[in-house]
Amino acid sequence: MPVYEYECQSCHHRFEKKQGFHEKPVDKCPKCGGKPRRVIHSAPVIFKGSGFYITDSRKKAPDMGKSGGEKGKKKEKKP
Ligand SMILES: [Zn+2]
Repeated sequence: MPVYEYECQSCHHRFEKKQGFHEKPVDKCPKCGGKPRRVIHSAPVIFKGSGFYITDSRKKAPDMGKSGGEKGKKKEKKP
């Protein structure tokens, strides 16, 4: 069951509510009875384990640059 976060528009009280898809959204602030609006979170960025990935991709970079230098050798003049 997803947990939704609400923020009251009149007293800015924040609260969370576990709700199923077919349940009605909360329309009353538990503190003052005002109208709350649902707070939508942007997707959380997870940095766990990203350090390994970065060091791995770094190794490949220098090799790709080298191949560019051989381009000039291919053009040979006929004797
Ligand atoms: Zn309120």
